[in-house]
Amino acid sequence: MNAPVRIDPETGLKVFNTRAAKASEKITGKGYSVTTDQKLKELPELPPGATFNAEEQAKYRAFKEARRGAADYINMEGEFKKYLDDVYSEPPIPREALTDECEILVVGAGFGGLLLWHKLSNAGFTDVRFCEKGGDVGGTWYWNRYPGIACDVESYSYLPLLEETGYIPSMKFASGFEILEYCQNMAQKFGFYDHCLFHTTVAATTWDEASGRWIVETDRGDKMRARFVILANGILTTPKLARIAGMEKFKGESFHTSRWNYNIDLHGKTVGIIGTGATAVQAIPELAKTVGQLYVFQRTPSSIDIRDQRATTDEERATWANEPGWARARRQRFSKISAGRSAIQANDDYLAGKIQEIKQPKQHERRLTEEELIQKQLDSNFRIMEQIRARVDAIVKDPKTAAALKPYYPYGCKRPTFHDEYLPTFNLPHVHLVDTAPRGVAEINERGVVHDGVEYPLDVLIYATGFQWMGTSTFNMVTGRGGRTLKEKWETEGTKTFLGLHSHGFPNLFIVTGPQGGGGSFNFTDAIDAHGDYLVWMLQAMRERGARIVDIRKEMEEAYAAHCRDVDIATAPLRDCISYYNGEGNAAPGSLAYYGGGKWHKHRVAAQSTLEPYVFEDRDSTVSAAAK
Ligand SMILES: Cc1cc2nc3c(=O)[nH]c(=O)nc-3n(C[C@H](O)[C@H](O)[C@H](O)COP(=O)(O)OP(=O)(O)OC[C@H]3O[C@@H](n4cnc5c(N)ncnc54)[C@H](O)[C@@H]3O)c2cc1C
Repeated sequence: MNAPVRIDPETGLKVFNTRAAKASEKITGKGYSVTTDQKLKELPELPPGATFNAEEQAKYRAFKEARRGAADYINMEGEFKKYLDDVYSEPPIPREALTDECEILVVGAGFGGLLLWHKLSNAGFTDVRFCEKGGDVGGTWYWNRYPGIACDVESYSYLPLLEETGYIPSMKFASGFEILEYCQNMAQKFGFYDHCLFHTTVAATTWDEASGRWIVETDRGDKMRARFVILANGILTTPKLARIAGMEKFKGESFHTSRWNYNIDLHGKTVGIIGTGATAVQAIPELAKTVGQLYVFQRTPSSIDIRDQRATTDEERATWANEPGWARARRQRFSKISAGRSAIQANDDYLAGKIQEIKQPKQHERRLTEEELIQKQLDSNFRIMEQIRARVDAIVKDPKTAAALKPYYPYGCKRPTFHDEYLPTFNLPHVHLVDTAPRGVAEINERGVVHDGVEYPLDVLIYATGFQWMGTSTFNMVTGRGGRTLKEKWETEGTKTFLGLHSHGFPNLFIVTGPQGGGGSFNFTDAIDAHGDYLVWMLQAMRERGARIVDIRKEMEEAYAAHCRDVDIATAPLRDCISYYNGEGNAAPGSLAYYGGGKWHKHRVAAQSTLEPYVFEDRDSTVSAAAK
């Protein structure tokens, strides 16, 4: 057994052996299987006369306003801290605290960390160190192991480095368990494990002007120095709990979906699940197959689009084996259609390059204004939602339950979900929808949930209450130039970045897939890929010019942040609902993310060709990039 920390005799760099063992063999699972009932795999016809008229618009507004302010979440502190325990791995591998220096320190070992390592090491950057809170790689796919978990973006476009690993996902929508294994394969194949400190949470990252280094402190007592820090800490990684009176009193078992406790046997039990977002939609059909009674506490229904899951075909395997570049080409085609639900349905002929267009682009007699374009999108969006609502009526037998399961907001405003078994689950006699709209569950006692004066006694209570979006604790612990924290800067000035990757006053700090990071695609791997390529370019550019520090000009950052705000305001009607995407309706425009993919690339290309936004410093002096 190798020591947890040792020196590689060839490179003189430290290498690590800190990957924790699995906590239990009980943690196994699969994504949902292929549905054979054709009716469940197609949306019903559009109901006649469906138009987004004043009456329908008023219905959407009322639905939204009734929920305003209802979302109230608490941090998992004090007695709720137990919900954050790593239930998937054995305790941390003991190791010495590190006080040395590396060139690049990356926070996070999810897709972001793994892809960065592949790109950086290929570009010759090897003095790279990763810190990861969990006991193994995977990030999202390490923490989320609930039954039924699968990706929502087709796996052939979502999984990174498929050609480099020679791997073909088994299903169009691979299970989370398969994705986790794939992450482990990537880590093994590309030597990632040697570079990662697992069970190591970065607690503080502080810029030291004198040495031009970041000081990175962790919960393992490390105090490392790094020339560059990359935050690949994910933006859906901090689980959140709804604030519900009496929740600390509950005497049964309870956990959050992102720490699924497989030691609790759910067979035949009475189980309650709070929340009906993307996670719950995947977990509920699987839970229903196991538990005795299932109570689903819903505040706001999700849009349940078709899934149409299928296995990868032999023909696909054979074709891809002889088609160099297939995965990258497929992901690029995917990103071109990812503005609507077609992206997630993912037409195979188009994605495989067999046809060039999914549908003919509409020709208008004159160029439409931006407002007219948005109105057209709202109209077609409404028609999709009408079909999604009609699907509920077509499948769910009890009219009251069906009515409660119908969402009234624009498609994509909340995270869209896809499932062919979820709606039929509510026809099962042991599955009960408890409609807590519009304010949500307000009380929990020692026996279970109380709503509208009715007590629902439970053996197990599962919180499917989701994650903080973008507001990760990692962004809160960065202290830059002049002792200013990123948190304080963004709280007082509003979120300000350049390309989402840099923030003025935080030199040599790069953020992957953070706020304002653009990307323009439902497929996160697109943004991670683009950000990784950009970072390699930046580090190489700095090497070439002998620069040791890069910061961003304040005025360029202001202009980029203003652009994000403008795009956000222009497209706001498409996101007119209460959702974590818009900070439960409270986020300032442009502060979280915007979906301006093409524009993000335009800003990036301009920056890379003019170098105008950057201030590079060499060892002795500050030199503007353009002047050099
Ligand atoms: C249930 C679920 C399903 C999803 N499905 C899809 C999908 O189908 N398609 C899609 O495009 N996206 C999906 N996403 C979004 C998903 O998060 C991204 O696709 C992608 O996995 C993000 O990778 P990442 O490496 O950026 O972040 P993550 O996977 O979140 O990894 C970040 C890692 O950083 C670690 N970390 C955070 N802070 C610290 C710290 N201070 N110190 C040390 N380590 C830290 C975390 O432990 C985590 O392991 C899904 C998300 C969830 C939660």
